[in-house]
Amino acid sequence: MPEGGAVVDTGVAPVDTGVVVMRGGRGAVCSVDAECADGLVCARGADLAHTCTIPCTHDAECTPNGERCAVDRLAGAPTRAVCGLVDPGAGEEGTGCERDSDCGSNYCVSRVCRFFCNADAQCAAGARCIAAPMLAGLRACGFDAVTAPRTDEFVVHDGPMGVDRPTERVFEAAPDAVSFSLWVQDLEGRELIASVVRLTAPDAATWIDGNTWTITRDQPIRDILAMDQINSVLAPSSDTLRVQSGRYRYFAGLFNDRAAMTSVASRRARVVLRVKRAPGGVLPATGTLRVRFYFAPGAGVTAATAMANTRIQTALTGMRSAYAGVGITVTAVGYEDVSGADAARFATIDAQSEIDDLFTRRPDGRADEVNVFFVRSIAASVGLEGAIGVAGDIVGPPGVHGTIHSGVVIALDGTFNGGGARDLLSNTLSHEVGHYLGLWHTRESRPACTTAGQMDCSPFGGVDPISDTPTDNAGAARNTMYWAAAPGLLMFSAGQGKVLRSSVVVN
Ligand SMILES: [Zn+2]
Repeated sequence: MPEGGAVVDTGVAPVDTGVVVMRGGRGAVCSVDAECADGLVCARGADLAHTCTIPCTHDAECTPNGERCAVDRLAGAPTRAVCGLVDPGAGEEGTGCERDSDCGSNYCVSRVCRFFCNADAQCAAGARCIAAPMLAGLRACGFDAVTAPRTDEFVVHDGPMGVDRPTERVFEAAPDAVSFSLWVQDLEGRELIASVVRLTAPDAATWIDGNTWTITRDQPIRDILAMDQINSVLAPSSDTLRVQSGRYRYFAGLFNDRAAMTSVASRRARVVLRVKRAPGGVLPATGTLRVRFYFAPGAGVTAATAMANTRIQTALTGMRSAYAGVGITVTAVGYEDVSGADAARFATIDAQSEIDDLFTRRPDGRADEVNVFFVRSIAASVGLEGAIGVAGDIVGPPGVHGTIHSGVVIALDGTFNGGGARDLLSNTLSHEVGHYLGLWHTRESRPACTTAGQMDCSPFGGVDPISDTPTDNAGAARNTMYWAAAPGLLMFSAGQGKVLRSSVVVN
């Protein structure tokens, strides 16, 4: 019998006297990384639950736990991003914030919530995946400041799109954004209606609202909302609207045309955002406009003779003078003939459908050019009240070619007006391209519409949305954008110049 109940030394080595720790799985409470199982780390910064989780570079890695990829700030150690839950109601990318915990990412930069990413496609249109400010080794959606004016394009959607079912989308404008164009384009046909039907600015102001749209009242962005095939909007479309930085919400889509009784379920379509940015968010005082001239067979001038044609070159000189007055250098970058076996029919434009067809005759090309089509005449039968020039839209598709709105057409006979000093070609050329870039008439010929369904009246009060153009008839008539052409009227106002330079085609 052992004495005194003392333990007999069995000769076996003593067991480890250290504390055995079960290393925690995902969600286990912890205080250091070593307490978490392999591959997990312990979130322990302020604003995060102190639990075992995974490091991350993007929200998608954090599903399906409902967590977000959020900053874990560690005293004395590198800051990192981990899957965690800051606050279920915390802000989304691009929304305003006062402190980090206001953001689902626990990351507030210059009062804007930023989210982590590893590819541009994970960011809202307009933003890029860049090195995260103040967080070494991490990338977040945002903007590197530009050092020179720049225009960036973001293809938001390119593929099948349900007709009559616009979806809400967002994009983000950089702090130095000065203007943007947004458009929706039917890639398969021309008979459906395309529309940017709603646009809400970062401050929640509604800039476009299809539900309350009427011809009697302007909206912050002036636009005819329903256009066949393609509808583009330009912000700012006046000299008083300023592009805000931050998150915009919009609906853009294709719609069946009740008048044409179309019934289409789906179409291939494209939604595109193009943003112009400049250092400090200051609209550049100068820019360059590239125009490309096309000549219909029988117009009286051809690509081969245009450079030596006095009328064409005099008109171009006058146009250059008008645009130079607001800082824009006009460059004629090419002279081409309208081609195709049926091109002769464009010599005289007899119907709106012919104008539509003509505008499609440049299928592709640079994104910073305006197409100018010269024809001999536009017949009265077209129903355009004897127009001597027509712009494809106000504002025209910016550098988008091959659509039924992709250009301006000018009648060489109709503008002649006796020739010489009476010639209207220069004024008409400046005027129609002005429409295409976003300018409305200083004053319309018909009285302002006063009821929503009214015909034979001028929308939006019958004057432009520019603050410094005269509204009286005599004053308005001394401007390139008066409804009627006159020889020698080659001037834009400073306010009109701002809209022209805001165009994403002018660079
Ligand atoms: Zn006009």
